[in-house]
Amino acid sequence: MRFSYQLCFLTGLVLAVHAGPISQPAATDDDVVEKYLKRFYNLTEETPGIFRHGFSQMKEKVEEMQTFFGLKVTGKVDQETLKVMTKPRCGVPDVAAYSTFGGGAKWKTNKLTYRIVNYTPDMSVAEVDESIERALQVWAKVTPLKFTRVNNGGADIMISFGSGYHGDSYPFDGSGGTLAHAFAPGAGIGGDAHFDEAETFTFSSSRGFVLFLVAAHEFGHSLGLSHSNVPGALMYPTYSFRDVNSFSLHSDDIKGIQSLYGSNTRIIPDPQPPTAPDACDPKLILDAVTTMSGETLYFKDRYVWRSSQFKDGAQLIESFLPSILNNIDAAYESPNKVFIFKGQYVWALSGFQVERGYPKSLTALGLPRSVRKITAAVYDQASQRALLFAENNYYSFDENSRRMDSRYPKRVEAGFPGMTGDVTAAHYDRGYIYLYSGTNVFEFYRRRLYRVLQSTSLLPCKANFPK
Ligand SMILES: [Zn+2]
Ligand SMILES: [Zn+2]
Repeated sequence: MRFSYQLCFLTGLVLAVHAGPISQPAATDDDVVEKYLKRFYNLTEETPGIFRHGFSQMKEKVEEMQTFFGLKVTGKVDQETLKVMTKPRCGVPDVAAYSTFGGGAKWKTNKLTYRIVNYTPDMSVAEVDESIERALQVWAKVTPLKFTRVNNGGADIMISFGSGYHGDSYPFDGSGGTLAHAFAPGAGIGGDAHFDEAETFTFSSSRGFVLFLVAAHEFGHSLGLSHSNVPGALMYPTYSFRDVNSFSLHSDDIKGIQSLYGSNTRIIPDPQPPTAPDACDPKLILDAVTTMSGETLYFKDRYVWRSSQFKDGAQLIESFLPSILNNIDAAYESPNKVFIFKGQYVWALSGFQVERGYPKSLTALGLPRSVRKITAAVYDQASQRALLFAENNYYSFDENSRRMDSRYPKRVEAGFPGMTGDVTAAHYDRGYIYLYSGTNVFEFYRRRLYRVLQSTSLLPCKANFPK
């Protein structure tokens, strides 16, 4: 019987140094390239680089890979290409957007069963149960699929934790490297998802791997999806941390799963307004304002106004930044990079890329656990301090020593006399500090209140500009 299945090896970025082929001194770049293309792009040529009948399979495969990852398609392995090839990633070969497994494997019924065979000691039983349930619901919400849990006997999707050799032909590799794998729909092992017990799984922390995120990706494979080349899609080959509470399935994943199972008839309310915010709306309250690489960004929900492109109106944040940076709380630009706050985490960006090691928790910055979020942030060039606002208090962060200053928090009105209300956004511009509070913005120069403006007065509302 022809039994088609594929495996997914999800790998973690933090473990790259120990796990990636780049750390093996014996492996040359050529070895890395050949191994990579054989594993993920079905390279079969034994002596890559040799032209046969004027045709190089190697070159073709390099081009295929460059196309998948949106690199410059040259057919040559340049630095940029090699960098992507040495990134830890999932073991399933790469295919185009929302592709399903070659044979179109899918379940023939919409009523599926799952069983959690055993548990990881990393998390409580309740946390594992909830992570798995939520991961299945990610797919159930947009399809007619229904998942029922069983506690013994067989199930369509058998979920287990194991290390090393664990009963199939794909032993796990210890801490690092592969995180999990899953089998495409089918009888027996088909649909099953295995998690590498050598990893540290967590409920929602950026340390270790969020079981919900890993499981939701794996269940995509369990239901018949393969990898997507759309960055930000759940089925993208590499693991990246996201905030569990604000997780939403990417439209590419939805398209993929609905091409297999159809959509459900329940109406799912769009959590975001579908239209861009209006720069002239007098009730508009900005999420955050910051400079970034020479321009000023004004954030609101999923949208941002870029001062370099005001004439285009508000654009989607995900058009140039990772989509996790929707609905942010605060942002500031230090001399070297931009920091973005959302919930309990901070991201550092160089250019438009998230730096390695981020997001970090607010407590890792030195903020007390009682601070649930940062509502505004600004870098004060005069003092070389980042001022981090939590409603009507603020903290002072020394960018040079990367430590919180003592004797904080202070009340905002103590540091900025005349300021009233909670600080909802903050911005620095040529010596001026702008503190936003709802629809007002307080303009300070050397900590003295200069004037109070309407918060939208700096936005590209036509009424703000002389004709
Ligand atoms: Zn995968
Ligand atoms: Zn396995």
